[in-house]
Amino acid sequence: MKEKDPSQDLGEPGAAGLFQSLKPFRSAGRGFWRDVSQADWDDWRWQLKHRITSADQLQRLMPTLTPEEFAGAKLANTKLALAITPYFFNLIDPADEHCPIRQQVIPRIEETQTAAWEMSDPCGEDSHSPVPGLVHRYPDRVLFLVTDRCAAYCRYCTRSRLVSNATGYDFHPEFDKQIAYIAAHPEIRDVLLSGGDPLLLGDEKLEALLSRLRAIPHIEFLRIGSRIPTFLPQRITPELCAILKKFHPLFLSIHSNHPRELTTEVRDALGRLADAGIPLGNQSVLLKHVNDSAAVMKAHVQKLLMCRVKPYYIYQCDLISGSAHLRVSVRQGLEIMQQLRGHTTGYAVPQYVIDAPGGGGKVPVNPEYVLSHNADRVVIRNFEGRVFEYPEAADGTPRIQPLKRIEEPHRV
Ligand code: SF4
Repeated sequence: MKEKDPSQDLGEPGAAGLFQSLKPFRSAGRGFWRDVSQADWDDWRWQLKHRITSADQLQRLMPTLTPEEFAGAKLANTKLALAITPYFFNLIDPADEHCPIRQQVIPRIEETQTAAWEMSDPCGEDSHSPVPGLVHRYPDRVLFLVTDRCAAYCRYCTRSRLVSNATGYDFHPEFDKQIAYIAAHPEIRDVLLSGGDPLLLGDEKLEALLSRLRAIPHIEFLRIGSRIPTFLPQRITPELCAILKKFHPLFLSIHSNHPRELTTEVRDALGRLADAGIPLGNQSVLLKHVNDSAAVMKAHVQKLLMCRVKPYYIYQCDLISGSAHLRVSVRQGLEIMQQLRGHTTGYAVPQYVIDAPGGGGKVPVNPEYVLSHNADRVVIRNFEGRVFEYPEAADGTPRIQPLKRIEEPHRV
């Protein structure tokens, strides 16, 4: 019998071809920077110094910039700065207005429009901040904001009120106060370094910070949230990996949204981190024209596993001001999840979450697999839509009523 092509389950016309085209790893290439020496190109500081940061520079490099993008880029530095590393810029397809890489980093004028339900601090971080730069929302862990700078700026950033300092938020983390708070709260066992991007700190500064945190006896676990592996894989040097390795258990959550971001350069950088014993997870944001299809998501999560990264979360896009043009409905998110669960490796299936607006924390949202549940039995549906029953009495608890016969599976 001919084996079924697994990419056929994706439910959209053309999806199987799209899925197959996104699976290979390719280099970002050199593009406009082909004359730059290899040593400079591989130097993360060179990449930072040569970022694209203005509308005029962007238009020179990409004459296909639309009027909406040009106007957005002109205004970007009053809301969330424009910055794109040369490496990441090379992933943009200038011929495609809906290029998934383009949507993530090139501003649009729609960013200046704020819907009634949008906010500048959608996760309520400022109201859970006992000292500047520290968010203590969950009982046993804190978010430690290290810097307000990133290698490039994501147009949907939930922390755009402070990153890049375009709005004059004037973020100044005070490491002494942040560390003193953690040291004084023995219930905190887990610290997540984020920002801005913690891996933009130089090696010495990062090592000093990690050492101070590790010296606190009740800190069991350190985490770093970073978009650097995808925006600037050159930063993942052997020296950086050797430093991170000293602070185990230390996990790293990367941020990647589309399979085209997983280049050979990124795969190699992630391999260096994994070889240093760092468990890697990925966080994606569900975004229109970026990853709002099962074919794209499935190719992405499968490529992440090939890079030794566990897909961890898919976030429903936070209600950050000016992000409506990038938002996808929760219904569509659930449909995508339904086409992942059971249709690919369990390790490849992330948890879809909504960060509850105003500071309620992450809430998992799942397609419905439990159809009904009473004292006798639970009726469940599998990934193919076939219905099964499982007897609650299977735990040996005596029942007053005898169990009815379990039905043969049928399909919903
Ligand atoms: S890398 Fe993270 S913090 Fe920086 S702009 Fe993107 S989402 Fe925001």
